Amino acid sequence: MIKNLAVLGSTGSIGVQALEVAELMEFKIEALTANSRTDILEEQIRKFRPRLAAVADEKAAADLKIRVADTSTTVLSGSKGVEECARCGADSVLNSIVGIAGLAPTLAAIETGSSIALANKETLVAGGKIVMDSAAAKGVSILPVDSEHSAIFQSLQGYRGKNQIKRLILTASGGPFFGKTRAELEKVTLAQALKHPNWSMGAKITIDSATMMNKGLELIEAAWLFGIKAENIDILVHRQSIVHSLVEYVDNSVIAQLGVPDMRIPIQYALTYPDRYQSPVKQLDLAEAATLTFERPDYETFSCINLCRRAFEKGGLYPAAVNAANEKANELFREGKIGFLDIPKAVEAAFDLVAPVYDYTLEDVFETDKSIRFATERLFL
Ligand code: NDP
Ligand code: MG
Repeated sequence: MIKNLAVLGSTGSIGVQALEVAELMEFKIEALTANSRTDILEEQIRKFRPRLAAVADEKAAADLKIRVADTSTTVLSGSKGVEECARCGADSVLNSIVGIAGLAPTLAAIETGSSIALANKETLVAGGKIVMDSAAAKGVSILPVDSEHSAIFQSLQGYRGKNQIKRLILTASGGPFFGKTRAELEKVTLAQALKHPNWSMGAKITIDSATMMNKGLELIEAAWLFGIKAENIDILVHRQSIVHSLVEYVDNSVIAQLGVPDMRIPIQYALTYPDRYQSPVKQLDLAEAATLTFERPDYETFSCINLCRRAFEKGGLYPAAVNAANEKANELFREGKIGFLDIPKAVEAAFDLVAPVYDYTLEDVFETDKSIRFATERLFL
């Protein structure tokens, strides 16, 4: 069992819940990081007294340094500061940074030999091969925090065989626009897109859930984490978000993990694996839930899912490219600069913008990210 922990992106939705779990489990906090929300980070520093903290935004970091000068926490700045926190040597580094900004810190933590509790799915989408290879070389385990992947990981416990998994089934809530037509999606607003039916999450992933890009990203994440071909990963819309995902074995036996939709369960499991401890999360009452429904996604209306599948199957830098196009388009939509359906349009456009390079380095991933973001902005502005 781990004793100490670093939380990267501690001021976000997952980060705050991770610290709740850490407090209950009495983990010592070694490092905390944020992008710019220093008010929340200051409170966390005073409460958890980490050795290190970092703020990616240089100005915000300078401000925080003054504000916590009376504490023993060393405040670092910029993306290099965040990476240094990732290298703090904690038993586990929980990465809940949003977006590709999480990739270099994940690799830094792996190099140091810390176990990784991974919420930052963009890390595996953009740099899957590099991350998995480096984790294998270092003998570091990557434990999933994403609820679907935690469900699959939990459903795989006890499996010791080889080639006995038929398929993974990722469940999807369907987001706020499930059942809508493309014409109806043409006019949806940011406020409507931010209203997720079951989960309270950061803004970027909430929009990803509305476009269902989130499920496409998760398909790629699952393929890397579990070493399964994309063609053996299916998606089912399950509006109640109680069955968090399933594994189908060759004998057609299906094992699933269930629970109320609360991220503190997968967060805790990623930090206490292979053990389980009591949790303040509400007990699941299936009689109260009464009905669980499952449907196939509308792949035409929510085209992002299959665009991600295609990117993963093409390989090389394609996943990094669709991720970058989505991150930029998601941001432009949140800024009110483009429409909702411009997001899948941007993701599709990325296929023609990326070099068909299959032998690539981390630098190539970052270069692709940068150029696709630039090209995506130019598509609309
Ligand atoms: P939030 O937006 O709530 O939090 C993101 C965190 O990352 C914040 O601490 C933020 O700092 C920090 N951050 C943002 N940009 C940068 C940057 N450039 N450099 C360093 N740090 C940065 O996101 P969520 O917590 O919702 O999601 C985090 C990750 O977890 C995402 O990858 C998401 O897909 C994944 N995830 C989230 C789930 C959820 O329930 N929320 C479920 C499953 C996966 P600041 O606060 O200062 O802006
Ligand atoms: Mg998820």
